[in-house]
Amino acid sequence: MDHDALRDWSKRAADWAHGYHAGLRERPVRPAVAPGDIAARLPAAAPEAAEPMEAIWADFEALIPDAMTHWQHPRFFAYFPANAAPASMLAEQLANAIAAQCMLWQTAPAATELEQVVTGWLRDALALPGDLAGTIHDSATTATLAAVLTMRERALDWTGNAAGLAGQPALRLYTSAQAHSSVDKAVRVAGIGQDNLVRVATGSDHGMCPDALAAAIAADREAGLHPAGLVLCAGGTGIGAFDPIAECIAAAQAAGLPVHVDAAWAGSAMICPEFRHLWAGVEAADSVVINPHKWLGAQFDCSVQFLRDPAAQIRTLGLKPDYLQTPGAEAITDFNDWTLPLGRRFRALKLWFVLRAYGLEGLRTRLRNHVAWAAELAAELARLPGVEIVTPPSLSLFSFALSDGDAATQALLERINAEGRVYLTQTRHAGRFVIRVQVGPFDCTRADVMAVREAVAGA
Ligand SMILES: *Cc1c(COP(=O)(O)O)cnc(C)c1O
Repeated sequence: MDHDALRDWSKRAADWAHGYHAGLRERPVRPAVAPGDIAARLPAAAPEAAEPMEAIWADFEALIPDAMTHWQHPRFFAYFPANAAPASMLAEQLANAIAAQCMLWQTAPAATELEQVVTGWLRDALALPGDLAGTIHDSATTATLAAVLTMRERALDWTGNAAGLAGQPALRLYTSAQAHSSVDKAVRVAGIGQDNLVRVATGSDHGMCPDALAAAIAADREAGLHPAGLVLCAGGTGIGAFDPIAECIAAAQAAGLPVHVDAAWAGSAMICPEFRHLWAGVEAADSVVINPHKWLGAQFDCSVQFLRDPAAQIRTLGLKPDYLQTPGAEAITDFNDWTLPLGRRFRALKLWFVLRAYGLEGLRTRLRNHVAWAAELAAELARLPGVEIVTPPSLSLFSFALSDGDAATQALLERINAEGRVYLTQTRHAGRFVIRVQVGPFDCTRADVMAVREAVAGA
């Protein structure tokens, strides 16, 4: 294929995409495929000779779409959303056409400066302090790892990278039981060790107890261990729990510890002033991560980390061999120094397109609808015989179960998902198997949300 052929095929792809999205509501959200089904239909080896694009396209249509879980389906209420607003898809097409590698200012001047400007727009839209600087990672997992590595280096007086961790004091990191598994992954990868991730006790609302945090830090110091930092949860993945951000940051700061806030999902909602009380005090954090690729509509991957002191993270992750030096580099930002991989995609473009194409007010309306519809659905489900709301809506996320017990709840979930009208997933809460419902698809309607009630009732 050459660029002339690409032009024709791109038009065909655009038409295909339009039809795909127009027909999404008619498809089951999750396909009826068994593990191995797709691989069994694919050749064992790559072709030696070039194949005609018609044949490749025909196989794409025959094999792929019907065997995908449709994340852009308006009745996808599983996990968290991975929304891709149409304007975001358009931006990705353009970024795809340029196919830039945005590791240095010099390798992508417009991408670098757009990243600085649009993360600033987002910061202001979230009412975060104006002195926080933003950068875009592929995922919140990477952003949290970057924050934890920086905590490690700070705690070791910047000696870990050079000397390694052997012989260093045991570092301790604090979080709650509601924290995302990316925090576990970060302490493992950073060499801090899972055993040094302290799960601070939570209160009845599943938020961290600030007094328990202060006590845990003090006890560790007493025992000769070395507290390194705190990771707070603003909208946990299981049930949407919020730690009391202001009080926990105050306790950490009194002990001299840096704080990273994981608001990967719920952060998007903070463009609405009425939800900001949920993370009150966040302005004192050292680092905050928010995934516009979840609820906001900038498609995967687009995870924004806001930093109070980028110099600390650059000191941890920045590395400039001769071949990456740029003459006169003092006045510029090379974002690879802020993030883990050297190579970086042009992710700022889709965030720019989304913020402009829908406007903050358009985005707020969507999120407010989702939150309101989640509350309405939870109230409706609570009226069904045998259904219990286990955790009430946190923004647009709640969980429910059948009073008949775990096996009945699990069987209900399997029936609903096999039927395909809506897609829901599970978690365990207080030892109980519960079904999670998150309302977040970019283009869902109230009727789409109420389809969950019909699916549960078996209507
Ligand atoms: C989704 C999520 C993550 C992980 O996000 P990725 O971008 O997929 O790495 C981390 N924390 C929370 C609270 C999340 O909801």
